[in-house]
Amino acid sequence: MTQQLTILGATGSIGQQTLDVVARHPDHYRVLALTAGSQWQAMARLCLSVKPRYAAMADDAAAAALRNHLREAGSDVEVLGGPDAQCQLAAHPEADTVVAAIVGAAGVRPTLAAVQAGKRVLLANKETLVVTGQLFMTAVREHGATLLPVDSEHNAIFQCLPLEGVNEGVEQLLLTASGGPFREWSASALQSVTPEQAIRHPNWDMGPKISVDSATLMNKGLEFIEACWLFDVPPAMVEVVVHPQSVIHSMVAYRDGSVLAQMGTPDMRTPIACALSWPQRVESGARRLDFATLRGLHFEAPDLQRFPCLGLARQAMETGGTATAVLNAANEEAVAAFLAGKLDFMGIAAVVEQSLSKLDAPVCHDVEAVLDIDRQARELARRQIKERGC
Ligand code: NAD
Ligand code: MG
Repeated sequence: MTQQLTILGATGSIGQQTLDVVARHPDHYRVLALTAGSQWQAMARLCLSVKPRYAAMADDAAAAALRNHLREAGSDVEVLGGPDAQCQLAAHPEADTVVAAIVGAAGVRPTLAAVQAGKRVLLANKETLVVTGQLFMTAVREHGATLLPVDSEHNAIFQCLPLEGVNEGVEQLLLTASGGPFREWSASALQSVTPEQAIRHPNWDMGPKISVDSATLMNKGLEFIEACWLFDVPPAMVEVVVHPQSVIHSMVAYRDGSVLAQMGTPDMRTPIACALSWPQRVESGARRLDFATLRGLHFEAPDLQRFPCLGLARQAMETGGTATAVLNAANEEAVAAFLAGKLDFMGIAAVVEQSLSKLDAPVCHDVEAVLDIDRQARELARRQIKERGC
């Protein structure tokens, strides 16, 4: 049967790779709707080639520009604007599957809207889970949504777990981390990292925010939190292993000593195709692993001294309440400031640490209350960034 898709964050790295997989299987997938933030030119190109029924831009001015452009080009794509439009398309009755690929907490409301409409949700937007954790997982259960992980590590664990999920036979989830571009850099060299260096990841081609998160190891911290919620395991059951080749995408260790790993070349089209077609399999376009030329697999423990963000994320998960929302908001602000040349690289961890220590992180019972904590944490982080200067 043909799946109708809404792709949230269609102009980004995950969005475009999803469209690449989809284009290989026109009989399996149809694109109902595409959404993005403000890059209307990139969206215009997608609309003309993919021909969805709807397109939405979070930014109203971008939506107006897109509408004009498409009208002049003779396209009949219906363009919507504003943040509610993303939720509307995520919950559209004709959408079977929603690919959640917005970056950051901006994805919270649209991703939740998809869950509340009981969709099959392909989750790349890890920040949604980090911010809303328990509330999100409860909504998945209550609304009968199907959640399929796209993040390569979580997709790997999903593939290595028994069909019914974590049971008493599972001892540990092992998240692999490439270690990022500065794995071997000294603490003093890390002080002078530039944005250009940080967004050049050795193995993966990703959006700027996640590339910086990979360089600080905050990405692995966010993924640690994501794993706890997705697989319903306590923090003590999740371990991070640095594996620079990114060939093993993560592992599950069992009580009898067995360790199952999922392997492949580092190409997000593999987990995207896996999630799209699950429980079937479809061609993804990814290059195959060539064991004859593979030159060894390395493993080491992460260094929390040089990369404090990973420890801060673990700590926030153990603290509970909305500590992980504070961690995420402070990190988003700090990364944006770093990319804009307003904060030094090590300042990212410092801002996150101070935000966690200064802000209360109560348990919240609704999403609006969590998003209010997110706003407070951003304000506090912005003040710290200003004070720290650069
Ligand atoms: P990206 O920066 O390349 O793309 C982000 C997308 O989100 C764009 O389409 C952008 O227009 C949209 N967007 C931004 N702000 C928005 C807003 N306010 N409202 C609506 N849309 C908005 O990011 P990416 O690398 O594709 O990452 C997307 C998500 O997937 C992130 O949460 C990231 O952590 C996760 N992820 C990415 C990769 C990867 O390889 N790129 C791997 C695993 C997980
Ligand atoms: Mg990942």
